[in-house]
Amino acid sequence: MIAAINGKLGEGMSSVRYRCLCQNCLRVAGYPTYDQANEAKCFGCGGEMCACGSCEETINALGRGLRDAQALGLKCDVDTWNPRDGGAFA
Ligand SMILES: [Zn+2]
Ligand SMILES: [Zn+2]
Repeated sequence: MIAAINGKLGEGMSSVRYRCLCQNCLRVAGYPTYDQANEAKCFGCGGEMCACGSCEETINALGRGLRDAQALGLKCDVDTWNPRDGGAFA
């Protein structure tokens, strides 16, 4: 019974405490624990996800509308981006 209750609590946005960034396509996913976030595979391209502080900053910067490669710490400027579809590079 307790497991079932925990299972229910484990779903939904309230359980997302750690965000991770796909190193390939810049999609963002969220997980309840840092380890899950850091070891996840991208749901879009299957690439490696990273949940480190620098990727968290990149997610925040993308969210603020920054698209400049240097400001984001990326190799290429980002053309368009959203967390679900990732980035398209200029
Ligand atoms: Zn990806
Ligand atoms: Zn990282």
